Amino acid sequence: MVDFSLTDEQQDLRELAHDFASKEIRPVAAQLDRDAAWPQAIIDKAHEVGLMNTHIPARYGGPGLNCFEGCLIEEELSWGCSGVQTTLGANGLASAPVMLGGSEEVKREFGEQLMASPRLASFCLTEPDAGSDVAAMRTRAVRRGDGYLLNGSKCFITNGSYADWFVVYAKTDPEAGQRGISAFLVRRDGSVVVDKKEDKMGQRASNTATITFNDTEVDARYLLGEENKGFRLAMMVLDRTRPGVAAMATGIARAAFEHATEYSKQRVQFGVPIATHQAIGFMIADMATKVHLSRLATWNSAVVLDQGARNTLESAHAKRFAADSAMEVATDAVQIYGGYGFIKDYPVEKLMRDAKIMQLYEGTSQIQRLVIARETLAPRGSETPAAPTA
Ligand SMILES: Cc1cc2nc3c(=O)[nH]c(=O)nc-3n(C[C@H](O)[C@H](O)[C@H](O)COP(=O)(O)OP(=O)(O)OC[C@H]3O[C@@H](n4cnc5c(N)ncnc54)[C@H](O)[C@@H]3O)c2cc1C
Repeated sequence: MVDFSLTDEQQDLRELAHDFASKEIRPVAAQLDRDAAWPQAIIDKAHEVGLMNTHIPARYGGPGLNCFEGCLIEEELSWGCSGVQTTLGANGLASAPVMLGGSEEVKREFGEQLMASPRLASFCLTEPDAGSDVAAMRTRAVRRGDGYLLNGSKCFITNGSYADWFVVYAKTDPEAGQRGISAFLVRRDGSVVVDKKEDKMGQRASNTATITFNDTEVDARYLLGEENKGFRLAMMVLDRTRPGVAAMATGIARAAFEHATEYSKQRVQFGVPIATHQAIGFMIADMATKVHLSRLATWNSAVVLDQGARNTLESAHAKRFAADSAMEVATDAVQIYGGYGFIKDYPVEKLMRDAKIMQLYEGTSQIQRLVIARETLAPRGSETPAAPTA
């Protein structure tokens, strides 16, 4: 049976996240954006009320929420400020490969530490010459004694300046392309250097940095999954996290839609509220449809995963559609505000800048189309591949 109603617990979760976004995030979002300020106070509070690390299983002290429940939270927090949600949610991106590929001992150590205090972890896949083309990465991990020696630079790393842990993808067999990549859990130590903090167009409340590993020693127990199976692990992670990005895009679109709707009812031109001009009314209608369909695609992609099936196609559909829709809806919101939409005193120009990243990170909209085309032209079936546990 198809049923879109939420359980009482899910409604409570959504309300908790909405209240948090209204009271803790929205009042400071413009200032965080203007100053590109680090939202430590919000991180501390979100950790305290249970809005971080939502997918850490209960056996490691986490709430153990499923992907769908995570999406409910992600939409609300992103409605508050998607830059803040990117900061709060990055632990989920870093935790996924640990929970999929780590040994029981490593999962416990990592999970319990994240739950104990507001510590951060980063996911380090992208390099200056290896973005969409992951296999072009140059970071190397070389066997040394009981572990590995890691060398290389990762760029655009969310929370990189503040993270205590990094999940790092590196070449263990440089001649083997994507079949020569392995994933490691790495603790910050003196060999890990933050080279550059980016000054960004949007999501300015999130930290994005270049991180260099200089002869960083990694114990062999921190290899995630099997050696040379890191690419597959990364793709499994992105299947799990793209519904959350789609939920964030839905949150941005909803915020832009709500602002534009309110404004169109109040702004009078030619003697009537601009909402009564059909051209504006139809823009509002299209925005409403895009928000609605973005949420449906997001929920669908999450539920397929929660039911134990592979959601590669559904998560690419959701991420692509919700991201492109967020950009369109935010741009239309600026249009509905007219010249005021272009001015920083009004909320929609920030949403337009924030929306742009939705089409870029965790696979650009072009890469989602590549995935959709591949899965459509040569379907692989929906069974979930076994996690590459170490
Ligand atoms: C704010 C921010 C936060 C980020 N956070 C993280 C993070 O925490 N961890 C991490 O590892 N990475 C992170 N990233 C990196 C992000 O995932 C990459 O920027 C993204 O994957 C694109 O890679 P690229 O920037 O190198 O672009 P490129 O891969 O160089 O792409 C450039 C353009 O070419 C297009 N293109 C590339 N290949 C193809 C193709 N085969 N077919 C059609 N079009 C193609 C792309 O769609 C894009 O339009 C972040 C980026 C930003 C900006």
